[in-house]
This record gives sequence, structure tokens and C-alpha cells, in this order.
Amino acid sequence: MAGDLRVDHAVSSGTFSLDGETHQVDNNLWVVGDDDECVVIDAPHSVEDIEALVAGRTVRAIVLTHAHDDHCRVAPALRERVTAPILLHPDERPLWELTHGRPDDPEAYLWDVDLADGSHVEVAGNRLEVLHTPGHAPGAVCLHAPDLGCVFTGDTLFQGGPGATGRSYSDADVIVQSIRSSLLALPDDTVAHTGHGPDTTIGAERAGVSG
Ligand SMILES: [Zn+2]
Repeated sequence: MAGDLRVDHAVSSGTFSLDGETHQVDNNLWVVGDDDECVVIDAPHSVEDIEALVAGRTVRAIVLTHAHDDHCRVAPALRERVTAPILLHPDERPLWELTHGRPDDPEAYLWDVDLADGSHVEVAGNRLEVLHTPGHAPGAVCLHAPDLGCVFTGDTLFQGGPGATGRSYSDADVIVQSIRSSLLALPDDTVAHTGHGPDTTIGAERAGVSG
């Protein structure tokens, strides 16, 4: 038996840079799978931190919630280590290029598979549903795991409300619309595993973003 589907979590520390500013940040690491295989959600600062959670399992995919550097920086290095494709929404290309280079750069590195709203990522016989939730970033996605009763929200929804929209490539009106149309459609008891900080639930955040 491969065991039950589960979520493994750790926190990894590093920096986030955009618009000429650099901040120290703690990112949540999320790995979903059973005893045999898993999917890695985001690749922030340290391949070693992620491999500790993977614990020798086969990695089916490296899924990026968006391409701010504190979510995608070590994705190419992790890809080399675990031989799994990098999945990212194509609208993240401008942000991805800030970290991993433009096409005319000989060192440039692209992801492998485009994510699309309504598509699925398979892991251990289960499905993670891709929800395109632009606003914090144009190609930001959330991953809904109905069998686990949770959703991985990246930087789109945190405990206390929507993610930041004050920097380039963000839009405050769009993020609220995304949350209303995609995340508030989920059951109230759905646990939101966020990109930074503590978990919340859809029900707990509903009042702050509906209206
Ligand atoms: Zn972000």
C-alpha cells in the first residue's frame, strides 16, 4: 500500500525582490502525495529544504502558484535533482523572466508545462484542480484538493484577506474578483494552505472579501 494522501509542510527562509526592493521572507513549502509519489507546490529558496519534505518519493510535478522569485527561484535546480516538470501559468512569463532570464539570454530557463484554469494535476490517483486566480500576479493559480478538503492559495489569499497588490504586475480589483469567483465558490470548511504564514479557511475569509 502507498498510504493515504497527505500534505507535508515546512517553512523555508530567503528573500523576495521586486521593483528594486528586497525583503526577507518566510515561505511555506507544501508537498502533496502518498508514500510513493508527490507533487511539490512552489520552489522558494532551498532545494535541500524541499527534498527533506519529499523524502525520497517520486516527484510527479513542480507546480508554481506564481513566479515571484520567492516562489520559483530554485525550480530549475530542483527539476535537475528530481527530474520532474515545472508547471506554471503562461501569464507569469514577465515575472519568470525577471528571475530566470529572457529568451535572448543564453542562460535563460523556461518552465515545461503551461497550467490552465480548469485543468488538473494528477498525484497518487488524486486530482489537484487548477484555479486561475489573477491579481497578485497575472498568472497566479490556486490548487484545490477536494479529497483533502483544502486549497493551496499561494499569495492570492492569506489569513486576514487578499494577497498584496501594491507592486508591478498586480491588480487589487482583479484579485478580489478572482477570490470571489474561484475561492469563495469552495465550501466554507475548505482549509487554505497559504504561501506565507498560517492556514485559514474559506469560511473565515468570506466576510472580508464578499460584498
Ligand atoms: Zn508573490
